[in-house]
Amino acid sequence: MKNIILIAAPAAGKGTLSEMLVEKHNYAHISTGDLLRNASAKGDELGKKISEILARGELVTDEIVFELLERRLQEDDIKNGYILDGFPRTLSQAQEYDQMVKKMGIDLGIVVVIDTKYETLKKRIVGRVLCKDCGSVYNTLTGVNTPKVDGICDKCGGELYKRSDDNEESFEARFKTYQEKTAPLIEYYKEKGNLFLIKGEDKEQMLEEIEALLHD
Ligand SMILES: [Zn+2]
Repeated sequence: MKNIILIAAPAAGKGTLSEMLVEKHNYAHISTGDLLRNASAKGDELGKKISEILARGELVTDEIVFELLERRLQEDDIKNGYILDGFPRTLSQAQEYDQMVKKMGIDLGIVVVIDTKYETLKKRIVGRVLCKDCGSVYNTLTGVNTPKVDGICDKCGGELYKRSDDNEESFEARFKTYQEKTAPLIEYYKEKGNLFLIKGEDKEQMLEEIEALLHD
């Protein structure tokens, strides 16, 4: 299966799509956030360095991220195909990543943008409510996963609440940042010829569209 770099706006369906690909097609899911947390928890020399940087509230350097990524890409489970989630974030990372996989003899694969309508993204975030007791997630605006009784969890009867940053202003700011950050990446991969758009409105359709791109 082809390796995938996933690019998606907040709430576009990246988590759902990754989960389906892992379950159905045995993809390895690689997120740089997880790599950093795991390395930090492991506590070896590099892990300690990462913990210190994170504790100071600073950003981990590209050098460290690439080192972790290179280690991860030497593991066996990536041979069936892997999804890179949340990386690269900048043009220079994309260029360096190209060089790294080339050197390692790994195919860059395809870059998939989940193209979900702005209004859908906004409803998914602004309408999101969570159960205080069991953490189940519902939505009051999208018509998907609507709680049966307003404010009450279907599963455990717990009280539903809204995260403070799940509001319109915060969504608009996050969306704007996403667009500004990813625009150069999207342009870069478009020029390379390995960029594909799939629609993110519907789960099954999203899976169907990506499946049409996966075979070598
Ligand atoms: Zn609950």
